[in-house]
Amino acid sequence: MNSDSMHDVLIVGAGIAGLIAATELQTQGKKVTLLDKGRLPGGRLATRYNEEGQPVFDYGAQFVTARDEWFAQQMKNWIEAKAAVEWGRGFSNQIGVPAKQNGYSRFRGYPGMQKIADHLAKNLNVRNNQKVIKIEPENNFIQVQTDQDNLYTARHMILTMPVPQSLELLQKSRITLFSSDYKSLESIVYAPCLAILATLQGPSGLPSPGALHLQSEPIDIISDNTQKFWNQPLEKETKTSKITIHAGPKFSEGSLDQKREEINKTGKELVPLALPYLASPVSDFQTHFWRYARPVKLHPERCFSVTVNQSMLVFAGDAFFEPRVEGAALSGKAAADLILQNT
Ligand SMILES: Cc1cc2nc3c(=O)[nH]c(=O)nc-3n(C[C@H](O)[C@H](O)[C@H](O)COP(=O)(O)OP(=O)(O)OC[C@H]3O[C@@H](n4cnc5c(N)ncnc54)[C@H](O)[C@@H]3O)c2cc1C
Repeated sequence: MNSDSMHDVLIVGAGIAGLIAATELQTQGKKVTLLDKGRLPGGRLATRYNEEGQPVFDYGAQFVTARDEWFAQQMKNWIEAKAAVEWGRGFSNQIGVPAKQNGYSRFRGYPGMQKIADHLAKNLNVRNNQKVIKIEPENNFIQVQTDQDNLYTARHMILTMPVPQSLELLQKSRITLFSSDYKSLESIVYAPCLAILATLQGPSGLPSPGALHLQSEPIDIISDNTQKFWNQPLEKETKTSKITIHAGPKFSEGSLDQKREEINKTGKELVPLALPYLASPVSDFQTHFWRYARPVKLHPERCFSVTVNQSMLVFAGDAFFEPRVEGAALSGKAAADLILQNT
């Protein structure tokens, strides 16, 4: 087993909540490491790349809002660093109706959503492909074991994965929460999302800036990644385009107990329902099922902390107080602030 040196704070999850928490803690001189089971940082800020490293599909979050003053400043920094850009100020919600462009700003990573995470991770100690499988209180510290047989030790810890996954991890560990704390965390509920990553034989015909936000069932949103990433004007001849279709939560629930093959079959049922919105036929597609896509029942505070011996174990992420990327970032900041105030 490989053992790493001591950390002030270990963070499980290098999604936006974990990355923001780590940035805040590191800025204040704390030694921080992020552990993530994924191949890349970002979590639900997810972009699929081709072999040349070019973005092809955003298949998790499609856009980011920045209404909070502190978060808007972060967005400004990311735009200056060319890690993000304004995508538009509104999306059409009906075929044939152009998007109103007088709403609030919707931002995106540049060119893909995952680039925001890459930008934040650049200055942080992020260990990818490290699934945390156990947390053990060890004297006055917390020790973490990953599926790669690595051990990490820290004074405090932040868990930023979807809360049911955090609770599952604690159940496998020697950490028992007070039943009221457990109940409070257990009451957090997420909706799933079935995502279709499809290639079209020609232009999508989706209105500028490249999305149709139906917010309905069975389809929530269809985005044209080709327009989004490359600002491909509609009239320009496009040989193929890459689109993402997100099913609505009700339709997606049908895949909760499905195996991979069955999910693909469900995807096959969804694709024809998207065709009336598209100008070109689908030539092929893949599916991705998000078991915990968006929280629908949230915790009332920006983070939640318990004490294990003398260590703080803080729960954070988009299920705390406010959903979406913006809410997750603010939760990550709150978790970092809480640790800084108490150490
Ligand atoms: C399909 C979809 C569409 C969305 N659309 C939007 C949108 O348009 N706008 C918007 O603002 N929000 C949107 N969201 C929500 C948004 O993506 C999330 O709110 C936000 O990204 C959550 O960030 P987070 O850091 O809390 O969690 P996550 O991004 O989920 O990060 C948690 C991380 O923990 C890691 N992890 C989990 N278990 C372990 C383990 N045992 N060991 C190590 N690592 C582990 C995961 O790999 C992941 O990287 C969407 C989400 C989905 C899925």
